[in-house]
Amino acid sequence: MKFKPVIGLEIHVQLNTKTKAFCSCPSDVFELEPNSAICPICTGQPGALPVPSEEMFEYGILLAAALNCKIHEYSRFDRKNYFYPDLPKGYQITQFFYPLATDGYLKVKEKRIRIRRIHLEEDAGKLIHSSETITEASHSFVDMNRCGVPLAEIVTEPDISSPQEAREFLEKLRQILRYTGVSTGDMEKGALRCDANISVIDTETGIQSNKVEVKNMNSFKFVEKALEYEYRRIVSLMKKGEEVKKETRGWDLSSKTTISMRSKEEANDYRYFPEPDIPPVIFSRDYIEKIKAKLPELPDEKFERFKKAYKLGDYEAGILTSTVQLADFFERCVKITNNPKETSNWFLTELLRFASPEADFDELKIKPEHFKELFEMIEKGEISRNIAKNVFEETFVSGKSPRKIVEEKGLKIVGDESLIEDILKKLMEKYPDKVQEYKNGKTGLLGFFVGGVMRETKGKADPRKVNEIARRLLAD
Ligand SMILES: [Zn+2]
Repeated sequence: MKFKPVIGLEIHVQLNTKTKAFCSCPSDVFELEPNSAICPICTGQPGALPVPSEEMFEYGILLAAALNCKIHEYSRFDRKNYFYPDLPKGYQITQFFYPLATDGYLKVKEKRIRIRRIHLEEDAGKLIHSSETITEASHSFVDMNRCGVPLAEIVTEPDISSPQEAREFLEKLRQILRYTGVSTGDMEKGALRCDANISVIDTETGIQSNKVEVKNMNSFKFVEKALEYEYRRIVSLMKKGEEVKKETRGWDLSSKTTISMRSKEEANDYRYFPEPDIPPVIFSRDYIEKIKAKLPELPDEKFERFKKAYKLGDYEAGILTSTVQLADFFERCVKITNNPKETSNWFLTELLRFASPEADFDELKIKPEHFKELFEMIEKGEISRNIAKNVFEETFVSGKSPRKIVEEKGLKIVGDESLIEDILKKLMEKYPDKVQEYKNGKTGLLGFFVGGVMRETKGKADPRKVNEIARRLLAD
């Protein structure tokens, strides 16, 4: 490949704090009436003083630790001054000069994507236009509920080398956010937002295009799609020897293209100065270590432990550790069943057909003991695997014990050899031509007789036994 994309991401993560960053308004405002969660502080009324939330620092430190960052004992808030109707203060409180953390990384499939910095800041409000597009709107409303909601901004180095890798990075990041409880990571609720910058390098000449910033990508899929589109657009300009403009482009869902929004402003277009109302933030090493000690087992560690402790393959371990809830439920089940391999099989082939990995597994009607009962009945040859699948589904829906379902419905396997022989003999009498064809070498007809027995016993016969007996009788 002559051309290679060079991609960096800027991600805003809403922290799971109870209150906003600098006041006591609630921070989970997604479903609230517009302007119902505001106060003089977050709407910037004269004389109101911001007080940083300690929870915001704790989540910030946890996130920075999970992303292997250097957490600074000294950080500071600054004012980023700009005018926009959704920003009543006329500035955003952010950490520009002294961010909370720097120099981290996140591993995506063995590759380290470096994190340049993580800083804390407050969100702005939201404009609601009377029409879909701002140019057609006759008027607009402002909802200030989001003003002051605490965010962590994560900035990566331009280490990402494909649109797919950008999506994988975000998926891994969201997994970590959910593992640590730092954020819900819900993109559709605005708790995780991503901007990307992309340039293209011509590997033969070493010439690199200008950087283009891409915004408005509100799902992981769109991040990948927008970057793919942008990569192709830049390459075609480079091939024609045309200039790639330094600009900000937005992903347009209807046309599936990116559209120029504005030529890119430099960081120094904004005027930053230290926030005079908040003193510098100074953490002791002890405090940082105390918070870091709260870090739970992270996805990579859990994955490795599952592979080793339960002797699982990459695929199984990857799925079972995709969420903490699923991993915990698996471990609770294995404690009872004592059979990791079988438990993993049933999780992957059956449980996850009915429950999403994001489910609340405590709420499920199926309990770890049910897995044990089911496995025991299969092991003892009391029910076939096919029957067990139906029983599983019924237990999943009703919460009824598998043993009870089997007893009530009379699903126990017909292991009685003489009964199987009787059914087979009747079939052979009924279809002598098929018996003859079998004897003449059309051995595929074995399935015809086995199937007949299974139908007659409503699937309750042990297929291995039926096969064995049918083979014996037909050979006579
Ligand atoms: Zn407030």
